[in-house]
Amino acid sequence: TAKAAGGNRFVFHTRDMTDRAETRLRLEAGLREAAAAKSFELVYQPKIEAAGGRLTGFEALIRWRHEGVAISPADFIPVAEDTGLIIEIGHWVLEEACRTATRWALDHGPVPVAVNVSARQLADPGFARLVEQVLQRHGTPPGLLELEITETVIMKDVRHHLPTLNRLRALGVRIAIDDFGTGYSSLAYLRELPVDVLKIDRSFVNDLPHAPDIASTVIALAQKLLLSTVAEGVETAEQRHWLAEAGCNCLQGFLISRPLSADAAEAMVMTAFACDEALPLTA
Ligand code: C2E
Ligand code: MG
Ligand code: MG
Ligand code: MG
Repeated sequence: TAKAAGGNRFVFHTRDMTDRAETRLRLEAGLREAAAAKSFELVYQPKIEAAGGRLTGFEALIRWRHEGVAISPADFIPVAEDTGLIIEIGHWVLEEACRTATRWALDHGPVPVAVNVSARQLADPGFARLVEQVLQRHGTPPGLLELEITETVIMKDVRHHLPTLNRLRALGVRIAIDDFGTGYSSLAYLRELPVDVLKIDRSFVNDLPHAPDIASTVIALAQKLLLSTVAEGVETAEQRHWLAEAGCNCLQGFLISRPLSADAAEAMVMTAFACDEALPLTA
């Protein structure tokens, strides 16, 4: 009957909500344990010069296995943000990336490593001081650390973030605006911001070469403001050629390389300094 069906629907609905709440609670509990035990890993995705192909740096990306399953940062970073665990996790990422960049610099040569910074970390009044302490602790040249902050996070409250960004910049750390083009940056604000790099969001790189308007506009804007550009999510040779022709500075994406383990990334650093040659591309 209709009544029975309605009743079933209601039962189904509440069970579904309970399942989701349970999944979320398990994820939170797992994340809390992982944060305490620091049981994460960093992988490193290379960036290369668009013209010439030389290695220019890496982006550090966090990895987490929960109950034997790899959970995407796109799924657990928001939970870490909500619970505040991102402060602890972000601190670990910073330490680990600086330790690695310093070791590579000593053993092979200087290669910058970029670290993603979340909204809550940037809003933390102690953040710039923390970065300074981590750099000192590992003896990391500040120029080897780049911080990636998404456009929507910076632009949501520019005035509030400006003092922190200025302090970071004064340390000698480079600042990149991540996923650029997805938010609504005002040109006026962008001119005032202490940033070095614009990372063209993967969605616009994906549109190349048939719909190049946004990528072209970002590259032109960056050139006007004397900022460097990195294209993210480069997957095809056509995209790479278009970007090199258009004057984009650096490329990052599966075409160049998937994110690598620290050991595999180090092998790449070693090769880059041993022969000072462009990386061999598979495509
Ligand atoms: P993001 O910072 O924009 O990082 C780029 C993402 O695109 C990475 O996903 C990377 O693996 C992926 N990617 C790179 N090249 C390609 C490509 O050619 N095609 C496709 N389809 N994807 C590509 P990942 O590692 O899953 O990270 C997702 C997001 O999670 C990151 O986006 C970043 O916002 C966040 N994240 C990752 N690690 C950290 C971290 O240590 N701290 C914080 N706060 N956020 C992080
Ligand atoms: Mg990033
Ligand atoms: Mg990005
Ligand atoms: Mg992106």
